[in-house]
Amino acid sequence: MTNREMLGLYIHIPFCKEKCHYCDFFSFRGKAELMVPYVEALIHEIDSFNNEDLDIDTIYIGGGTPSILMLSSIESIMAHVRAAFRIKDNAEITIEVNPGTVKFDALKAYSAMGINRLSMGAQSFNEKHLKRLGRIHLAKDISSTVKAARAAGFENISLDLIYGLPDETLEELITDIKAGIELGVDHLSLYGLIIEEGTQFFAEYEKGTLNLPAEELLLQMRETGTILLEKAGFRHYEISNYGKKGFFSKHNLIYWQNKNYLGLGADASSYWQGERYKNMDSISGYIAEKKENKSSKLDCYKIGNKEAIEEEILLGLRLIDGINIYEFKKRYDIDLLEMYKEPIRLLKEEGCLKIDNGQLYLTLRGLAISNYCLGMFLC
Ligand code: SF4
Repeated sequence: MTNREMLGLYIHIPFCKEKCHYCDFFSFRGKAELMVPYVEALIHEIDSFNNEDLDIDTIYIGGGTPSILMLSSIESIMAHVRAAFRIKDNAEITIEVNPGTVKFDALKAYSAMGINRLSMGAQSFNEKHLKRLGRIHLAKDISSTVKAARAAGFENISLDLIYGLPDETLEELITDIKAGIELGVDHLSLYGLIIEEGTQFFAEYEKGTLNLPAEELLLQMRETGTILLEKAGFRHYEISNYGKKGFFSKHNLIYWQNKNYLGLGADASSYWQGERYKNMDSISGYIAEKKENKSSKLDCYKIGNKEAIEEEILLGLRLIDGINIYEFKKRYDIDLLEMYKEPIRLLKEEGCLKIDNGQLYLTLRGLAISNYCLGMFLC
Protein backbone atom coordinates (compact mmCIF):
# COMPACT_ATOMS: atom_id res chain seq x y z
CA MET A 1 0.00 0.00 0.00
CA THR A 2 1.25 3.51 -0.71
CA ASN A 3 0.23 6.74 0.93
CA ARG A 4 -0.37 10.09 -0.69
CA GLU A 5 -1.45 11.91 2.47
CA MET A 6 0.98 12.98 5.19
CA LEU A 7 2.00 10.17 7.51
CA GLY A 8 3.66 10.39 10.91
CA LEU A 9 5.38 7.61 12.81
CA TYR A 10 5.23 7.48 16.60
CA ILE A 11 7.60 5.11 18.42
CA HIS A 12 6.90 4.49 22.10
CA ILE A 13 9.61 3.79 24.69
CA PRO A 14 7.83 3.00 27.99
CA PHE A 15 10.76 3.22 30.43
CA CYS A 16 11.62 5.96 32.93
CA LYS A 17 14.11 6.34 35.76
CA GLU A 18 11.36 7.29 38.21
CA LYS A 19 7.63 7.79 37.94
CA CYS A 20 6.71 11.48 38.16
CA HIS A 21 3.94 12.26 40.63
CA TYR A 22 1.53 13.62 38.02
CA CYS A 23 2.17 11.13 35.20
CA ASP A 24 -0.37 8.62 33.92
CA PHE A 25 1.45 7.86 30.66
CA PHE A 26 2.21 4.28 29.75
CA SER A 27 5.68 4.39 31.33
CA PHE A 28 7.36 2.46 34.13
CA ARG A 29 10.30 2.94 36.44
CA GLY A 30 12.88 0.15 36.65
CA LYS A 31 12.16 -2.82 34.36
CA ALA A 32 15.68 -2.40 32.93
CA GLU A 33 15.76 -6.14 32.18
CA LEU A 34 12.93 -5.62 29.66
CA MET A 35 14.64 -2.89 27.66
CA VAL A 36 16.61 -5.14 25.28
CA PRO A 37 13.75 -7.59 24.59
CA TYR A 38 11.40 -4.62 24.17
CA VAL A 39 13.64 -3.03 21.55
CA GLU A 40 13.86 -6.40 19.75
CA ALA A 41 10.05 -6.61 19.72
CA LEU A 42 9.81 -3.03 18.49
CA ILE A 43 12.23 -3.79 15.67
CA HIS A 44 10.11 -6.79 14.78
CA GLU A 45 7.10 -4.51 14.47
CA ILE A 46 9.06 -1.94 12.44
CA ASP A 47 10.29 -4.68 10.07
CA SER A 48 6.71 -5.83 9.50
CA PHE A 49 6.24 -2.67 7.39
CA ASN A 50 9.11 -3.62 5.04
CA ASN A 51 6.93 -4.22 2.01
CA GLU A 52 4.36 -1.50 2.59
CA ASP A 53 6.00 1.21 0.49
CA LEU A 54 5.16 4.08 2.85
CA ASP A 55 6.48 7.66 2.78
CA ILE A 56 7.03 9.17 6.20
CA ASP A 57 6.85 12.91 6.93
CA THR A 58 7.60 12.89 10.65
CA ILE A 59 9.01 10.51 13.24
CA TYR A 60 8.54 11.01 16.96
CA ILE A 61 10.39 8.80 19.43
CA GLY A 62 8.51 9.44 22.67
CA GLY A 63 7.76 7.87 25.98
CA GLY A 64 8.52 7.36 28.69
CA THR A 65 12.09 8.50 28.41
CA PRO A 66 13.67 7.34 25.13
CA SER A 67 17.03 8.80 26.18
CA ILE A 68 17.18 6.15 28.93
CA LEU A 69 17.85 3.49 26.26
CA MET A 70 21.38 2.49 25.27
CA LEU A 71 22.64 4.42 22.29
CA SER A 72 22.95 1.19 20.30
CA SER A 73 19.21 0.59 20.80
CA ILE A 74 18.26 3.99 19.37
CA GLU A 75 20.72 3.39 16.50
CA SER A 76 19.12 0.05 15.78
CA ILE A 77 15.59 1.49 15.88
CA MET A 78 16.53 4.28 13.47
CA ALA A 79 18.36 1.90 11.10
CA HIS A 80 15.34 -0.42 10.90
CA VAL A 81 12.94 2.50 10.44
CA ARG A 82 15.06 3.71 7.51
CA ALA A 83 15.05 0.24 5.99
CA ALA A 84 11.30 -0.30 6.40
CA PHE A 85 9.96 3.13 5.40
CA ARG A 86 10.88 5.86 2.92
CA ILE A 87 11.75 8.86 5.09
CA LYS A 88 11.19 12.12 3.23
CA ASP A 89 14.25 14.36 2.86
CA ASN A 90 12.80 17.16 4.97
CA ALA A 91 11.26 14.85 7.58
CA GLU A 92 11.05 16.14 11.13
CA ILE A 93 12.59 13.50 13.41
CA THR A 94 12.11 14.15 17.12
CA ILE A 95 13.36 12.38 20.20
CA GLU A 96 12.10 13.13 23.70
CA VAL A 97 14.84 13.56 26.25
CA ASN A 98 14.75 14.35 29.92
CA PRO A 99 17.40 16.60 31.46
CA GLY A 100 19.79 14.51 33.48
CA THR A 101 19.38 11.42 31.28
CA VAL A 102 21.44 12.50 28.28
CA LYS A 103 24.96 13.85 27.71
CA PHE A 104 26.75 15.56 24.81
CA ASP A 105 28.06 12.29 23.26
CA ALA A 106 24.59 10.78 23.06
CA LEU A 107 23.15 14.01 21.65
CA LYS A 108 25.90 14.12 19.04
CA ALA A 109 25.13 10.51 18.12
CA TYR A 110 21.37 11.26 17.83
CA SER A 111 22.18 14.12 15.51
CA ALA A 112 24.44 11.87 13.40
CA MET A 113 21.52 9.40 13.09
CA GLY A 114 19.46 12.15 11.43
CA ILE A 115 17.36 13.01 14.47
CA ASN A 116 16.85 16.74 14.02
CA ARG A 117 14.54 17.85 16.83
CA LEU A 118 14.71 17.49 20.61
CA SER A 119 11.69 17.67 22.85
CA MET A 120 12.82 18.22 26.41
CA GLY A 121 10.68 17.64 29.49
CA ALA A 122 11.80 20.56 31.66
CA GLN A 123 8.41 21.15 33.38
CA SER A 124 9.79 23.86 35.71
CA PHE A 125 13.00 25.68 36.60
CA ASN A 126 11.98 25.92 40.23
CA GLU A 127 13.76 23.36 42.46
CA LYS A 128 10.86 23.21 44.91
CA HIS A 129 8.36 22.43 42.14
CA LEU A 130 10.68 19.98 40.37
CA LYS A 131 10.94 18.02 43.60
CA ARG A 132 7.19 18.20 44.20
CA LEU A 133 6.57 16.88 40.67
CA GLY A 134 8.92 13.95 41.32
CA ARG A 135 11.28 15.00 38.52
CA ILE A 136 14.79 13.56 38.69
CA HIS A 137 16.60 16.65 37.39
CA LEU A 138 17.66 20.00 38.77
CA ALA A 139 17.08 23.33 37.03
CA LYS A 140 20.75 23.55 36.02
CA ASP A 141 20.42 20.24 34.13
CA ILE A 142 17.90 21.87 31.77
CA SER A 143 20.28 24.62 30.67
CA SER A 144 23.27 22.28 30.44
CA THR A 145 21.26 19.85 28.27
CA VAL A 146 20.07 22.65 25.96
CA LYS A 147 23.65 23.93 25.62
CA ALA A 148 24.97 20.42 24.95
CA ALA A 149 22.23 19.89 22.35
CA ARG A 150 23.14 23.10 20.52
CA ALA A 151 26.82 22.10 20.58
CA ALA A 152 25.82 18.68 19.22
CA GLY A 153 24.16 20.38 16.24
CA PHE A 154 20.47 20.53 17.19
CA GLU A 155 18.80 23.53 15.57
CA ASN A 156 15.29 22.69 16.69
CA ILE A 157 14.73 22.36 20.43
CA SER A 158 11.41 22.31 22.23
CA LEU A 159 10.86 22.64 25.95
CA ASP A 160 7.84 21.43 27.94
CA LEU A 161 6.68 23.45 30.93
CA ILE A 162 3.72 22.80 33.21
CA TYR A 163 1.69 25.50 34.94
CA GLY A 164 -0.91 25.29 37.68
CA LEU A 165 1.41 23.31 39.97
CA PRO A 166 0.52 22.81 43.65
CA ASP A 167 1.15 26.08 45.54
CA GLU A 168 2.47 27.77 42.39
CA THR A 169 2.27 31.55 42.19
CA LEU A 170 1.97 33.67 39.06
CA GLU A 171 5.44 35.12 39.75
CA GLU A 172 6.95 31.63 39.85
CA LEU A 173 5.40 30.78 36.50
CA ILE A 174 6.68 34.04 35.00
CA THR A 175 10.19 33.16 36.21
CA ASP A 176 9.87 29.70 34.60
CA ILE A 177 8.73 31.06 31.25
CA LYS A 178 11.44 33.73 31.22
CA ALA A 179 14.04 31.05 31.96
CA GLY A 180 12.78 29.04 28.97
CA ILE A 181 12.89 32.12 26.73
CA GLU A 182 16.41 33.00 27.89
CA LEU A 183 17.65 29.55 26.94
CA GLY A 184 16.79 30.47 23.34
CA VAL A 185 14.70 27.38 22.57
CA ASP A 186 12.69 27.32 19.34
CA HIS A 187 9.42 25.87 20.59
CA LEU A 188 7.70 25.76 23.94
CA SER A 189 4.75 23.68 25.11
CA LEU A 190 2.94 25.09 28.13
CA TYR A 191 0.59 22.51 29.59
CA GLY A 192 -1.85 23.02 32.43
CA LEU A 193 -1.41 20.39 35.16
CA ILE A 194 -4.13 17.74 35.01
CA ILE A 195 -4.71 15.52 38.02
CA GLU A 196 -5.03 12.07 36.47
CA GLU A 197 -6.47 9.07 38.24
CA GLY A 198 -3.90 6.53 39.42
CA THR A 199 -1.12 9.08 39.99
CA GLN A 200 0.47 10.12 43.28
CA PHE A 201 -1.04 13.58 42.83
CA PHE A 202 -4.50 12.04 42.46
CA ALA A 203 -4.11 10.26 45.81
CA GLU A 204 -3.02 13.54 47.43
CA TYR A 205 -5.90 15.36 45.78
CA GLU A 206 -8.36 12.82 47.14
CA LYS A 207 -6.88 13.29 50.62
CA GLY A 208 -7.25 17.05 50.21
CA THR A 209 -3.52 17.72 50.63
CA LEU A 210 -2.89 19.16 47.16
CA ASN A 211 -3.22 22.92 47.09
CA LEU A 212 -3.96 23.76 43.46
CA PRO A 213 -4.26 27.29 42.02
CA ALA A 214 -7.83 28.57 41.69
CA GLU A 215 -9.51 28.71 38.27
CA GLU A 216 -9.07 32.48 38.01
CA LEU A 217 -5.33 32.24 38.68
CA LEU A 218 -5.02 29.47 36.09
CA LEU A 219 -6.61 31.72 33.45
CA GLN A 220 -4.24 34.51 34.44
CA MET A 221 -1.27 32.12 34.18
CA ARG A 222 -2.21 31.00 30.68
CA GLU A 223 -2.83 34.57 29.53
CA THR A 224 0.41 35.87 31.04
CA GLY A 225 2.37 32.97 29.55
CA THR A 226 0.94 33.72 26.11
CA ILE A 227 1.79 37.43 26.37
CA LEU A 228 5.38 36.73 27.49
CA LEU A 229 5.99 34.16 24.79
CA GLU A 230 4.47 36.24 22.00
CA LYS A 231 6.61 39.21 23.06
CA ALA A 232 9.64 36.94 22.80
CA GLY A 233 8.81 36.04 19.17
CA PHE A 234 6.84 32.83 19.69
CA ARG A 235 3.55 32.35 17.87
CA HIS A 236 0.73 30.74 19.82
CA TYR A 237 -0.43 28.17 17.24
CA GLU A 238 -2.22 25.55 19.34
CA ILE A 239 -3.93 25.71 22.75
CA SER A 240 -0.76 24.64 24.59
CA ASN A 241 1.94 25.23 21.99
CA TYR A 242 4.12 28.15 20.94
CA GLY A 243 6.75 28.13 18.21
CA LYS A 244 9.12 30.53 16.55
CA LYS A 245 8.64 30.97 12.79
CA GLY A 246 9.33 27.70 11.01
CA PHE A 247 9.44 25.70 14.25
CA PHE A 248 5.84 24.55 14.76
CA SER A 249 5.77 20.84 15.57
CA LYS A 250 5.05 19.09 12.26
CA HIS A 251 4.41 15.80 14.02
CA ASN A 252 1.84 17.19 16.43
CA LEU A 253 0.18 19.08 13.58
CA ILE A 254 -0.48 15.68 12.01
CA TYR A 255 -2.56 14.81 15.09
CA TRP A 256 -4.35 18.14 15.25
CA GLN A 257 -5.05 18.20 11.52
CA ASN A 258 -6.54 14.72 11.79
CA LYS A 259 -4.01 13.14 9.42
CA ASN A 260 -2.63 9.60 9.44
CA TYR A 261 -0.12 8.26 11.92
CA LEU A 262 1.21 4.84 12.81
CA GLY A 263 2.06 4.11 16.43
CA LEU A 264 4.73 1.48 17.06
CA GLY A 265 5.53 -0.06 20.44
CA ALA A 266 3.42 -1.04 23.43
CA ASP A 267 0.25 1.02 23.95
CA ALA A 268 1.00 3.20 20.90
CA SER A 269 -2.06 4.54 19.07
CA SER A 270 -2.60 4.67 15.33
CA TYR A 271 -4.98 6.39 12.95
CA TRP A 272 -4.58 4.60 9.69
CA GLN A 273 -6.84 3.73 6.78
CA GLY A 274 -9.88 5.13 8.52
CA GLU A 275 -9.36 3.14 11.73
CA ARG A 276 -8.22 4.14 15.20
CA TYR A 277 -6.59 1.45 17.32
CA LYS A 278 -3.78 0.89 19.75
CA ASN A 279 -1.16 -1.76 20.38
CA MET A 280 -1.02 -4.25 23.25
CA ASP A 281 -0.92 -2.25 26.50
CA SER A 282 1.56 -4.37 28.44
CA ILE A 283 5.33 -4.46 27.92
CA SER A 284 5.69 -8.19 28.49
CA GLY A 285 2.51 -8.90 26.50
CA TYR A 286 3.87 -6.86 23.60
CA ILE A 287 7.23 -8.68 23.71
CA ALA A 288 5.53 -12.10 23.83
CA GLU A 289 3.21 -11.18 20.97
CA LYS A 290 6.04 -10.10 18.68
CA LYS A 291 7.98 -13.29 19.49
CA GLU A 292 4.99 -15.21 18.20
CA ASN A 293 4.78 -13.02 15.14
CA LYS A 294 1.39 -11.67 16.17
CA SER A 295 -0.09 -8.24 16.48
CA SER A 296 -3.27 -7.11 18.15
CA LYS A 297 -5.35 -4.01 17.51
CA LEU A 298 -6.95 -2.91 20.77
CA ASP A 299 -10.01 -0.62 20.89
CA CYS A 300 -10.14 -0.70 17.11
CA TYR A 301 -12.94 1.22 15.48
CA LYS A 302 -13.68 2.45 11.99
CA ILE A 303 -14.22 6.18 11.79
CA GLY A 304 -17.57 6.88 10.16
CA ASN A 305 -18.43 10.18 8.51
CA LYS A 306 -20.09 11.59 11.66
CA GLU A 307 -17.08 10.74 13.88
CA ALA A 308 -14.66 12.11 11.28
CA ILE A 309 -16.54 15.43 11.20
CA GLU A 310 -16.64 15.70 14.99
CA GLU A 311 -12.98 14.76 15.37
CA GLU A 312 -11.96 17.28 12.74
CA ILE A 313 -13.86 20.03 14.57
CA LEU A 314 -12.53 19.10 18.03
CA LEU A 315 -8.95 18.87 16.80
CA GLY A 316 -9.15 21.83 14.41
CA LEU A 317 -10.47 24.21 17.05
CA ARG A 318 -7.41 23.45 19.21
CA LEU A 319 -5.42 25.32 16.57
CA ILE A 320 -5.27 29.09 16.88
CA ASP A 321 -6.12 29.49 13.17
CA GLY A 322 -9.04 27.10 13.64
CA ILE A 323 -10.83 25.48 10.71
CA ASN A 324 -11.17 26.66 7.13
CA ILE A 325 -14.87 26.38 6.37
CA TYR A 326 -14.35 26.10 2.58
CA GLU A 327 -11.84 23.25 2.88
CA PHE A 328 -14.16 21.58 5.35
CA LYS A 329 -17.00 21.82 2.82
CA LYS A 330 -14.78 20.34 0.10
CA ARG A 331 -13.76 17.47 2.35
CA TYR A 332 -17.12 16.53 3.85
CA ASP A 333 -19.64 18.30 1.61
CA ILE A 334 -21.01 20.00 4.70
CA ASP A 335 -21.75 23.62 5.47
CA LEU A 336 -20.23 23.92 8.95
CA LEU A 337 -22.02 27.19 9.66
CA GLU A 338 -25.38 25.65 8.86
CA MET A 339 -24.81 22.31 10.57
CA TYR A 340 -23.58 23.88 13.83
CA LYS A 341 -25.66 27.05 13.62
CA GLU A 342 -26.77 27.02 17.26
CA PRO A 343 -23.45 26.32 19.07
CA ILE A 344 -21.71 28.80 16.76
CA ARG A 345 -24.32 31.47 17.53
CA LEU A 346 -24.06 30.91 21.30
CA LEU A 347 -20.26 30.83 21.37
CA LYS A 348 -20.06 33.98 19.24
CA GLU A 349 -22.44 35.73 21.63
CA GLU A 350 -20.25 34.71 24.56
CA GLY A 351 -17.14 36.07 22.83
CA CYS A 352 -15.61 32.59 22.58
CA LEU A 353 -15.64 32.09 18.81
CA LYS A 354 -15.08 34.15 15.66
CA ILE A 355 -15.29 33.72 11.90
CA ASP A 356 -12.84 35.73 9.78
CA ASN A 357 -11.79 35.19 6.17
CA GLY A 358 -13.35 31.74 6.07
CA GLN A 359 -11.62 30.62 9.28
CA LEU A 360 -13.71 29.46 12.24
CA TYR A 361 -11.65 29.75 15.43
CA LEU A 362 -11.82 30.09 19.20
CA THR A 363 -10.87 33.45 20.68
CA LEU A 364 -8.43 33.67 23.61
CA ARG A 365 -11.44 33.58 25.90
CA GLY A 366 -12.74 30.50 24.09
CA LEU A 367 -9.36 28.78 24.27
CA ALA A 368 -9.21 29.38 28.01
CA ILE A 369 -12.46 27.41 28.41
CA SER A 370 -11.91 25.13 25.44
CA ASN A 371 -13.47 22.03 27.02
CA TYR A 372 -16.76 23.87 27.38
CA CYS A 373 -16.58 25.30 23.85
CA LEU A 374 -15.64 22.03 22.18
CA GLY A 375 -18.36 20.22 24.14
CA MET A 376 -20.94 22.48 22.47
CA PHE A 377 -20.18 20.83 19.13
CA LEU A 378 -20.92 17.38 20.51
CA CYS A 379 -24.47 18.12 21.65
S1 SF4 B 1 9.61 11.27 32.71
FE1 SF4 B 1 7.75 11.72 31.53
S2 SF4 B 1 6.89 9.72 30.99
FE2 SF4 B 1 8.40 9.38 32.62
S3 SF4 B 1 7.21 9.38 34.48
FE3 SF4 B 1 7.96 11.47 34.19
S4 SF4 B 1 6.34 12.52 33.03
FE4 SF4 B 1 5.96 10.31 32.90
